[in-house]
Amino acid sequence: MARFEPDRDYGLNTLIAHLGEEEKIKGAVVPPIFQNSLFLFETIDDLNGHIREGRTDMDVYSRVSNPTTSIAEKKIAAIEGTEEARLFNSGMAAISAAILSALDGPAHVVAVDTCYGPTRQFLDYMSRYGVTTTYIEGTDPDAVIAAIRPGETQAVYLESPSSVLFLLQDLTTICRYCREHGVTTILDNSYSAGVFQKPASFGVDLVVHSATKYFGGHSDVVAGAIAGSKERLTKMTMEEVSLFGAILPPFPSWLILRGLRTLTVRLKHHQEAANHIAKWLQGTGAADAVHHVGLDSFPQAALRDRQMTGTSGLFSFEPKVQDGEKVKAFANHLGLFGRGVSWGGFESLVVAFPTHPMHYESSRWIVRLNIGLEEPADLIADIQQALHASELLP
Ligand SMILES: *Cc1c(COP(=O)(O)O)cnc(C)c1O
Repeated sequence: MARFEPDRDYGLNTLIAHLGEEEKIKGAVVPPIFQNSLFLFETIDDLNGHIREGRTDMDVYSRVSNPTTSIAEKKIAAIEGTEEARLFNSGMAAISAAILSALDGPAHVVAVDTCYGPTRQFLDYMSRYGVTTTYIEGTDPDAVIAAIRPGETQAVYLESPSSVLFLLQDLTTICRYCREHGVTTILDNSYSAGVFQKPASFGVDLVVHSATKYFGGHSDVVAGAIAGSKERLTKMTMEEVSLFGAILPPFPSWLILRGLRTLTVRLKHHQEAANHIAKWLQGTGAADAVHHVGLDSFPQAALRDRQMTGTSGLFSFEPKVQDGEKVKAFANHLGLFGRGVSWGGFESLVVAFPTHPMHYESSRWIVRLNIGLEEPADLIADIQQALHASELLP
């Protein structure tokens, strides 16, 4: 059988395993970390050719491209089904670069109000440069479209499922309108890790990721990514990538590459475990609402089934007992769940906080669980003892 050829029609797992690694340097099964800032050329004409003509068959300088980083980028593009992808040194670096690449001077943006908190803060920060943002709930595509101001709105920022409340947006309807009206769509796809949702297939222009989460998967690296068309990413490489300089260095790129190798197997476990635990939690009666995209009772189940092929390991719930001290005691009593931010790693985590009152009459306590790769039965036993100890059970 022929060796792996990048242009053949392989399944996703084969691409994740081999794409970008056709050249086995000194036979090494794992590509080396190209820990260098620059690359040497045989002649000055050759070097000048690469700089002036923008030739890309060789790397010139690691602020623009690096072989280790490029391998991970090829795999991320394959996962998202886009022509290209670029890595950044955090999810926020990718998100801010994507938003800025879509704007041409003072402009108007429409954004999902339950998007990742610092994304909102970045949009608000941009008001000092004349960028104004209208926040919408996002579940009604007509309301999203109604917020778009013809000739003024340049970007629609989506996050589906959104942070904390896991609300979905109708990508087909929103993207069709935006494409027709020249509005760039950006979507944060960190939750689905590119595996369970392919936003580009619904017409999203720029897919952004916190690669810190499932792409890395081991809680040992902070990184971000953007996937999109060759046209958009080539322009971005010369502008937001090269000029802001927030590139992912070779070593963290190599960690992302290592994380990607097990992405689909990890997600399968996260999915099964979170679905099982969320359903069990619903049965305990300790929660007024379990916000988990994977539940049969998920309010937007029909939309989920149209645009997602699976769900991951992150969900939240609203304890029936809305006593802040007891909710905090629950989180403190958990033994296997670490109390800490972030998610998408091998380890289970918990955070508990009062939600923004935006979606409620008054602020409500919410608990978000990240289901890691531990044994689901052990996690259930842990949650059960913590519910008892904190008197959160009815
Ligand atoms: C963590 C997170 C980000 C930000 O990513 P960093 O890598 O921390 O910069 C963006 N979006 C979502 C949904 C996140 O959870």
